[in-house]
Amino acid sequence: MNIAKVIVDVPASSTNQTFDYLIPDKFMEMLTVGMRVIVPFGPRKIMGFVVGFTSESSFTKLKKIIDVLDLTPVLTTELLELGKWVANETLSLSITALQAMLPQVLKSQYKKELVRLTDDMLPDEFENLFAGRDYIPFEEFEATSISYYQLQKLLEAGDVSVDYLVKSRITKKQITMIKPAKDIHVLEEALGDLSKTAKKQKQLLLFFIANEKEIEQKELLKKVQTTTSTVKALVEKELLETYQQEVLRNPYNDNEFARTTALELTDEQSQAIEPINQTIEENKHDVFLIHGVTGSGKTEIYLQAIQHVINKGKEAIVLVPEISLTPQMVKRFKGRFGSSVAVMHSALSSGEKYDEWRRIHRKEVNVVVGARSAIFAPFQNLGIIIIDEEHETTYKQEDQPRYHARDVAIQRGKTNNCPVILGSATPALESYARASKDVYKLATLSQRTNQKAMPEVEIIDMRNELHAGNRTMFSRTLKEEIEQCLAKGEQIVLMLNRRGYSTFVMCRDCGHVKECPHCDIALTYHKNSNQLKCHYCSYEERVPELCPECESDLIRYFGTGTQKVEESLTKLIPEARVIRMDVDTTRRKGSHEKLLSQFAEGKADILLGTQMIAKGLDFENVTLVGVLTADSMLHLPDFRSSEKTFQLLTQVSGRAGRHELPGKVVVQTYTPDHYSIELASVYDFDTFYKHEMSMRKAFQYPPYFFLALITVSHENNVKAMQTTQQIAQLLMKSVGGDTVVLGPTPSPIPRIKDRYRYQCMIKYRNEPHLRKYMNKIKSVFADEVRKKDLLITVDMQPYHMM
Ligand code: ADP
Ligand code: ZN
Ligand code: ZN
Repeated sequence: MNIAKVIVDVPASSTNQTFDYLIPDKFMEMLTVGMRVIVPFGPRKIMGFVVGFTSESSFTKLKKIIDVLDLTPVLTTELLELGKWVANETLSLSITALQAMLPQVLKSQYKKELVRLTDDMLPDEFENLFAGRDYIPFEEFEATSISYYQLQKLLEAGDVSVDYLVKSRITKKQITMIKPAKDIHVLEEALGDLSKTAKKQKQLLLFFIANEKEIEQKELLKKVQTTTSTVKALVEKELLETYQQEVLRNPYNDNEFARTTALELTDEQSQAIEPINQTIEENKHDVFLIHGVTGSGKTEIYLQAIQHVINKGKEAIVLVPEISLTPQMVKRFKGRFGSSVAVMHSALSSGEKYDEWRRIHRKEVNVVVGARSAIFAPFQNLGIIIIDEEHETTYKQEDQPRYHARDVAIQRGKTNNCPVILGSATPALESYARASKDVYKLATLSQRTNQKAMPEVEIIDMRNELHAGNRTMFSRTLKEEIEQCLAKGEQIVLMLNRRGYSTFVMCRDCGHVKECPHCDIALTYHKNSNQLKCHYCSYEERVPELCPECESDLIRYFGTGTQKVEESLTKLIPEARVIRMDVDTTRRKGSHEKLLSQFAEGKADILLGTQMIAKGLDFENVTLVGVLTADSMLHLPDFRSSEKTFQLLTQVSGRAGRHELPGKVVVQTYTPDHYSIELASVYDFDTFYKHEMSMRKAFQYPPYFFLALITVSHENNVKAMQTTQQIAQLLMKSVGGDTVVLGPTPSPIPRIKDRYRYQCMIKYRNEPHLRKYMNKIKSVFADEVRKKDLLITVDMQPYHMM
């Protein structure tokens, strides 16, 4: 088996296969599947993944592998298989699917170094190589005749490690350690020799005589109450020595989390966890849907199920939506499982992400809590996968590979024979439908653990406000409620479902709306810079003083953004202290946490924000929740808009009155009798589910029908339209009679970055060969796609219709 099968990093359909390469002798013993290699490809050297071995190849002149990037495989055999599955399901390239499973750092070329982890003697050739240093550039190792196999042995023994230099050495976290350089009796002798005045030096020596161990310099100085110059003096006398030690950046200080223990479960909780525990015991796969109102103790169930899994020596993946991966959430998992928890989310630097990934890879943790991509955590003994807020659409990746984390979770659950737990107060229609048919096991938690009722919701018809002469964006009721709340010293959460200052700029005289010249979409006004910006391309311009159409100077801002709400709020209720939280105020790393902790400490009365404040937050003193524009989502061209509105309203209502104080919710809307708003206000999921299901059935949408969305874009409008037409015709010839092919229709945003966009939607119930047809279509247009003037994207389960 001297030939490796390699998937190369050339993202094109013509290279979407394995290529054979000869394995040079020096890599022979050490190379395994899941390692990354450098191979010659045409005139270039490129990266590839080893996915298999063979002793014969149909090609005669094989090229050799140039280099091996990993000493331990970065992808397990399970993940390689999963990659195949993901590529197939999402119609993406194998290389794209494999890359999606790895942290960013491993996707690009970084410098490597060999780090010594032990003071014990290494084999001679390695002692010579290190020559007294703690780490060396990896090239130095490559220049020697030492075999990779020998190196691999040391790696496995934990004597050395091979690390990527994510940043320069200087910023990498290192600590200075001090240890005795001589035997203790030598130190004791030296103690007597020190002059009387060298008091601090004596204390230091005494410390090491008593402890005999290495210690971090910082801690030592604190303990002995001295400075580095004392240490230096003893180092110069060769009694002590110092060295640098790398610590993995752990973005959290695990000691800060007060440890918690399992709570005694309520009856509902016990009933829910019992079948899960049984599945864990029997090493079986099953999918459970926990439908539980906010505060019903779902998280406690997760924690106890994970404990069960850990007790069996297995590992757990917990997915939470990015937005609700708040410090509060992290605290609950770190509080129960301490440093065995890795956390993965986008606010971490790429170095921190890499370190967290390595902690999983090196088996230093057995729980990972993370956003979507944490589903690919390289655990090898997976015992449970949990998806909290399973209805969130952020679990669907909107780039290739367009996977849904729920589907990937179930696939991993099957291969690992372990349960998958989906939890939500407002399950996705698809999930609830499966649970109703017993495909998933349903558990219902109808009570909050503290027996508190869900807060009362009052719906305010904003049309009446306008009739009554109230032109502000705050109804009279909401204003009164806010004032009462302030008087009692309680806190308020206000949600607006938008970002920026105003949505668009319109001329009051002629109605002209300023649009992006490259995309058919209104520009967004940004007050701070007085610029109009396009959110789909990077176009921006200054706000015009005169209307470009009619030269009127009556240019006005329309729509409402958080910034504008904040201004009118402080005008209306000047005494209120407001914290604004939206994409603009939370861009900087850590600002999200900072604003939340300020609010928790009572430094503000009102937390005003976009939907990012709807999720997962839990503040004792919040008794009022206001939703300023409940219907802003209802009019989006998306068949899920009612479902999303229902989910968001339910979720934000759950922020009020979670503890001792009773809560109240005020929902402002222009469509008060829309069923999603009415039913959310009485927490009636069942009726909503039935109503929405009947709509979906009538209009042939999921879960009754599956969808596939093809989007075609081209700089030429006619070309884009014609191609979509051809695709639709090709499909219609192939698909079955019950399948509906819609299109070509212009996309909801018909032009982005000067490219015209058309779509073709396929609605089907049973179309076993659809992926084959899609691949055929792709190959028909492959030439034009390669020349880059045509772009065709296929989304097998679209969540984003734009
Ligand atoms: P959910 O995840 O469903 O919103 P949580 O797990 O956050 O609910 O529980 C809500 C609150 O109830 C938390 O403060 C939690 O500590 C508490 N809690 C959960 N289970 C129990 C229990 N069995 N006994 C007492 N308190 C509980
Ligand atoms: Zn005008
Ligand atoms: Zn644009």
